[in-house]
This record gives sequence, structure tokens and C-alpha cells, in this order.
Amino acid sequence: MTKPPIPQESLDTIAVWGGEDGPAFEGATQVPVVHSVAFGYADVDEWQAVALGRSRGHIYSRNTNPTVAAFERKVMVLEHAEAATSFATGMAAISNTLFALLAPGDRVVSIKDSYGGTSKLFTEFLPRIDVQATLCDTDDHDAIERAVAAGCAMLYLETPTNPTLKVVDIARLSAAAHRAGSLVVVDNTFATPINQNPLALGADLVVHSATKFLGGHADALGGVLCGPAELVRRVYHYREITGAALHPASAYLLLRGLKTLHLRIRQQNASAQRIAEYLSRHPKVGAVFYPGLPGHPHHAVAARQMRGFGGVLSFMLAGGFGEVRAFLPRLRRAHRAANLGSVETVVGPPATTSHVENTAAERAALGIPEGLVRYSVGIEDPDDLIADLAQAL
Ligand SMILES: *Cc1c(COP(=O)(O)O)cnc(C)c1O
Repeated sequence: MTKPPIPQESLDTIAVWGGEDGPAFEGATQVPVVHSVAFGYADVDEWQAVALGRSRGHIYSRNTNPTVAAFERKVMVLEHAEAATSFATGMAAISNTLFALLAPGDRVVSIKDSYGGTSKLFTEFLPRIDVQATLCDTDDHDAIERAVAAGCAMLYLETPTNPTLKVVDIARLSAAAHRAGSLVVVDNTFATPINQNPLALGADLVVHSATKFLGGHADALGGVLCGPAELVRRVYHYREITGAALHPASAYLLLRGLKTLHLRIRQQNASAQRIAEYLSRHPKVGAVFYPGLPGHPHHAVAARQMRGFGGVLSFMLAGGFGEVRAFLPRLRRAHRAANLGSVETVVGPPATTSHVENTAAERAALGIPEGLVRYSVGIEDPDDLIADLAQAL
């Protein structure tokens, strides 16, 4: 299989200009933050035409808003999608997508390594509406194919995964799902559209926590869904009624962050690779999880479907959780915090970050060691980050 095609105009150019072609306000070159809750019409016929979707325009900001629409269009063109809709958070994007597209009696197939909040939807909330989820071992593609072939309405994937950076083969599993008549949804938060376009690999829908790399500055929450107009419209309709709309002020911050997405991701890819190589040679480090390392079990799949290996890695300290507790406070150039994908380096153990929703027993069952450290590489000079890790280790 060849690498996903690069669109005619580079993603670098699309990140800067894409989606910002709505009507300009008094010649402003930047998308304005429109805080208005509602949009007024002197002419009732025109108002009705917009309300019925026959004319372009906005009615009420829970449904659509000009600033929010510009953010949606920019992610849409970065993912080469036909349509996009946005949400207050990444979890709102994921939960609205699942609840809008699944019905009682449906079955979902997914992986054990999904984001902690997503796993909770599968194990706690979807069963309440009689949607059962089969969570397969992330490494076992044969088992995922068998589970899909047994019949399902949706295959839900995330790659690379959080926090052990496993990679699943989107093209292979999408083909298997389509043979079984199932939809394929991929959480592309860790890769971003700069490194990976799931729709070009065969997925039907792609979701993001925009809170992470898309915004990139850890100052705005958001989520987005991209895909074919008909599917996106169904999820949009659900969100319109249930109300988890993105705030225009957040949409503005996310839009501004997106303009430098390609520069940040390029730096974070390169720095994470160097840091992963450094850590894998360090005697105090037990194992390093990063798909860019040739020894990573899914390196070949990652090299085939990704243009870069991303800015997040994780590693085990030989001394276990006691060592993690002593090590983290010694880092000078990392926030000890629950987010990732920011311009600053962010570090934390799964127990307080990705899998805070799970108990220690659940984390053990998911194969997430308590001695693990997740390290989200920022845009600092990688030599400074390596020096910081060296003194802390
Ligand atoms: C953070 C994250 C989410 C949830 O996003 P929020 O914006 O925090 O709701 C979902 N998936 C992945 C992979 C994430 O890292």
C-alpha cells in the first residue's frame, strides 16, 4: 500500500488559510469572535429560508455560529472531509457520535486501549441503552476481524493509543468492517491530520479532541467530527438538540492554534524521536513506547499509514511507581498535568491522566503498568529537554 496521498495544496498551506473563506466583517483579515447568541432578520421570509437551511446564515449559536463554523471548515479541509461539526470537548464529540449513530440492540467492536473516557462509554453508558461493546486486544488484528465479521454496527478505533502508543492498521480493519457492513470511526487525536488522515485510509468518520494538538496551547477545550455530509448531519442534529456546542471564544483560540499546527507537529515529531532514542539507551529506563522506534512492534504499520510518528511517547522507570513519584517533581521543563499536545512539554502517570477514570485493577486489566510515564513533547529545544530528563533520571 502506498502512503496516503498529499492533497494538491500542501497541508501546511491549508493549516494557515483553510476554512477562513466565510464573509469578512468590515474587511477584517482574521475571523472575528462572534459572541452573539442569536442572529436577527428584518425580513421574515429570509429568516425562514435560513432556518430551513435553504439560505446560508445563522439562527442561534447552539446550532451554528460564524466563528465556530470557520473552525469546523479548517479541520474539515485538513482531514479532506466533505463535512465537519464541532463540540464543547473531545468527549462530547465521541459521545454524541456514538449516541447519535447507535441504536438499542447494536454492537460496537473496539480495542481495549481506547482513551479512558471512551472506554467508560463502552462499559458503563452504552449498555444502558442496550448497545454492547466487544473490546478486543489492541495487538490482535485477527481477533478484531473475527469480532467484526460476527456482525457489528460500528468499529471504533484509536491510533496511536494512549498511553502505550500502540498502532492499529486502519486500512486493514476498515476493509474488514466494510465487508461486514459496519461503519468505521477513528479517534485521530494523537496523530493529527498532519501525520495521518484516517478517511484516506478507509475510515468513515474521524473524531478529535481539539483540546490537544489541534489547539496546541492548552487554553481551550473542544472536539470535532469529520466525514461524509449525511453521517455528520445526523450527529450534528443530535448535538443541536442535546446542546454540547463549542463556545465561539474557544473556537477562536483553536483556529489560531491550527495556523501553526504543521510547524508544531513537525518539531514535536522530530523531538519525540530523538528523546525516545535517548531514553531507550538510558540504564534507568525499562522500556520506551514510541512508534518511531524500529523495535516498536507496530513500527511497520505506523511507517505505512503515518507521515510522522507524533509528539507523545511513554516509558517505564525500572524502579516502578515509587520511582515515578520521585522522578516527576525533579523535571524542570514539564508541566505535571493531565493534558497533552501543548507547546509546553507535559508529563504524567496514567493513573492521574488518561486513565484517571479507571481503578488500579482496571488499569492492570488493560495492561497499563503503574510505573509508566507519559511524556508529551513540546516545541522546546530537544537538547534542553534531554538535559532535563538526564538530570531528573
Ligand atoms: C483527551 C482525549 C480525549 C477527550 O478529549 P477532551 O477534550 O478532554 O474531552 C479523547 N481521545 C483522546 C485520544 C484524548 O487524548
